[in-house]
Amino acid sequence: MRKILIVGAGQSGLQLALGLQSRGYEVTLMSNRTADEIRSGRVMSTQCMFDTALQHERDLGLDFWESQAPRIEGLGVSVAGPDSGRLIDWVGKLDGYAQSVDQRVKMAGWMETFAQRGGQLVIHGAAVGDLDYFSRSYDLVLVAAGKGELVSMFGRDASRSPYSEPQRALAVAYVHGLGPRPEHPDFDAVRCNIVPGVGELFVMPTLTTGGRADILFWEGVPGGPLDAFQGVKDPAEHLSLTLELMEKFTPWEYARATKVELTDAGGTLAGRYAPTVRNPIGRLPGGGLVLGVADVVVANDPITGQGSNSASKCAAAYLAAIVEHGEKPFDEEWMRGAFDRYWQTAQHVTKWTNAMLAPPPEHVLNLLGAAGQLQPIADRFANGFNDPSDFENFFFDPEKTNAYLASLTGN
Ligand SMILES: Cc1cc2nc3c(=O)[nH]c(=O)nc-3n(C[C@H](O)[C@H](O)[C@H](O)COP(=O)(O)OP(=O)(O)OC[C@H]3O[C@@H](n4cnc5c(N)ncnc54)[C@H](O)[C@@H]3O)c2cc1C
Repeated sequence: MRKILIVGAGQSGLQLALGLQSRGYEVTLMSNRTADEIRSGRVMSTQCMFDTALQHERDLGLDFWESQAPRIEGLGVSVAGPDSGRLIDWVGKLDGYAQSVDQRVKMAGWMETFAQRGGQLVIHGAAVGDLDYFSRSYDLVLVAAGKGELVSMFGRDASRSPYSEPQRALAVAYVHGLGPRPEHPDFDAVRCNIVPGVGELFVMPTLTTGGRADILFWEGVPGGPLDAFQGVKDPAEHLSLTLELMEKFTPWEYARATKVELTDAGGTLAGRYAPTVRNPIGRLPGGGLVLGVADVVVANDPITGQGSNSASKCAAAYLAAIVEHGEKPFDEEWMRGAFDRYWQTAQHVTKWTNAMLAPPPEHVLNLLGAAGQLQPIADRFANGFNDPSDFENFFFDPEKTNAYLASLTGN
């Protein structure tokens, strides 16, 4: 049976490892942390995943937490006005629900499952030199190590990477005790609050190590008032800063957050990175080739909540490409083809996410405004998070936006 090495036990590496394992491949998974270290460590993401990405997990029987995780049935957008009120405020309904399962829960659980099913789990932080050595014993080496140092093997694709600097400063806090959304307490939703020129606050329910919780996630324009978390090491201080900024910029969200407390000592995260698309094939010093997976090759800003979704889609695309290839060698041509298959979906995510990082043009503001009056627009926008290719039809090009609006209003 074919031997495959996967470096990195995150969404993409584990999903692919478990998928290949179930097809009878001999898989070695290398992780720089044990399951217990992941479970008791720091949060890594907000990991809201939409229906298509969740379906890839269901297809592999990996939806272990589906019945426990809150069902996110809508996606709301608010735009703050100058007086701290809301210029725009609506909620779109998702056709299929989304869910967020804390990666500490999911990755630790999946890693244990992989080992219980007989997978070879190696706890080791791999360096390029290790891969050079190991690559000789495997038919295929996949690097699914996220945005860490191993990305240095994969050259930046400048034609697909419009930004060379981080576009947002990220600050996440997992909390208990958040009140319900006042406008629709009957169903859970992700709330995206846009503060023009300043940043965005995302609020969403999740399933964490201690059960149901909510996430408060600031995305701040670098150098602006939300870019205030660098150097804040104390989780309690991180939470008070989060709340202080909510009171100032999104008082309607602050109103339901006055009684929150952190879920645990690892419940905060701050950082930033430049969105980057890379050449998917890495060449090892000894001449061997490795294929990059998910964030290694396409790392988008989390403003659109797509990275875990894309990691799931990448793992699904690569799994199909590996299985279809049978016993043939995993050469450069195959690697390019596997990535191109993933890029079919990732290109839309990248284009839309990079557009959302820029100040919205007038036709987009009109569209967001109209969604407050016309529910079909709100619903379509919300479902675009599940399938961002739809934004090509009504979001980027002012003519298409206007034609879409006219088709609904008859003007
Ligand atoms: C603040 C924030 C919020 C986000 N919110 C969302 C969201 O709501 N929805 C969404 O879809 N996405 C979101 N994302 C993005 C999402 O978390 C990532 O895109 C996704 O986890 C990428 O999966 P991956 O498998 O490529 O890498 P990762 O999940 O990063 O996994 C990589 C793994 O490899 C390990 N590793 C690293 N280096 C080595 C090494 N040398 N040797 C061995 N192991 C190694 C790491 O420890 C890690 O476990 C968010 C990201 C951030 C930072």
